[in-house]
Amino acid sequence: METNYHLPSTLEQFQQQFPTEEACIDYFFSVKWPSGFSCPHCGHSRSYITITRRLPLYECLQCHHQTSLTAGTIMAGSRTSLHKWLTAIFLIARTEQGTNAVALSKIISVTYKTAWLILHKIRHAISTADQGTLLSGVIQVNSAVYGKPYNPYFRNHPQEHYLLAGSSLNIQGEPSYIKLKLVPKIHVKEKIFQRSATSDFTQQHVQSHTNSIEFITGRFSSKKFRALLAFAAQAGKSINNTFHGIGQKYLQYYLDEFCYKINLTLHEAPIFQHLIHLCTVPHVRLNLFTSQNTHMCPNSKIKTM
Ligand SMILES: [Zn+2]
Repeated sequence: METNYHLPSTLEQFQQQFPTEEACIDYFFSVKWPSGFSCPHCGHSRSYITITRRLPLYECLQCHHQTSLTAGTIMAGSRTSLHKWLTAIFLIARTEQGTNAVALSKIISVTYKTAWLILHKIRHAISTADQGTLLSGVIQVNSAVYGKPYNPYFRNHPQEHYLLAGSSLNIQGEPSYIKLKLVPKIHVKEKIFQRSATSDFTQQHVQSHTNSIEFITGRFSSKKFRALLAFAAQAGKSINNTFHGIGQKYLQYYLDEFCYKINLTLHEAPIFQHLIHLCTVPHVRLNLFTSQNTHMCPNSKIKTM
C-alpha cells in the first residue's frame, strides 16, 4: 500500500493534501495500482489513457480491455466526484467522531439523499469485510443491551436491542478482534437469551474449527467479560452522539463501523488508508486478522453460562 502520503488528521489538513479532483485521482491510482497500471484482464502494464471523460479511462495496449479507477468498486457508476468520495471516507475514518448524512451533505455540497447513499455504500463495504472475517482461536462472547441500559421489567422496551459482543483473544488474553451483533428478538424470550441466539452467532461469526468459545448470557451471571461490555457501552454512546438515535434497520451497519475502527486501532492500522483500500480495490480479502494474531489453545470446547 502507498506509504508516501502523510495521513491527514483534520479536515483542513485533508483539504490541503487533496485540494483538487486531480490530486484525488492520483491518490486512488496509487492505491489501486501501487506499482503502476496493471490490466485486470491480462496483467499487461501499458495502457492508453482517454482523458476526455470525467474520470480517466485506461485501455490495455495488449488486450484492449477498458477499465477505470472505480470499475468494480462501491464508486462504480457514481456521478459524485472522487474528491467528494474521498472526503466522505476521510470523515468516516476519524476515530473520535464519525459523520452523518446531514453533516456530510453540507461539507461536500450534495443532497442529503446523495450523502446518505455514499455513507451507506462505505458502511456496506465495512460490513462485508467484517462478514468475511470470522472469530477464531480463543473466543469470549457476552450478551449486552443497546439503547436502554437499565430496564428492570421483563418486557422489552422498544428502544432496547439485544446484542452479543464477541471477541477473539490475543496471546495476552485481550480482545484482538471484536464483533457486536444484534440478536433477533425471536432468540430472546423475557430477556433470556435462548440457545438459538448463541448457536446462530457461532454459525455466522465463528470459524468452524475454533479452539474454545465461552458465552455469558445469563441476566444475573456474576461472571462478566467486562472488556466486551465496555466496548458495547462505548458503541452505544458513540452511535448516539453521532446519529442521535437510529432505528433497528441500520443499527447493525453502525455497530460494524464502530467495531471496524476499534479493530484497526487494536492492530495499530491506519483507518483512513485501510478504508480507502476497502472502497477502492474490488473483492479485496483483508487478512489483517489472521489466526497468528489470536491465541490458539489445544482443547476444543464450547461453554455457555
Ligand atoms: Zn489487457
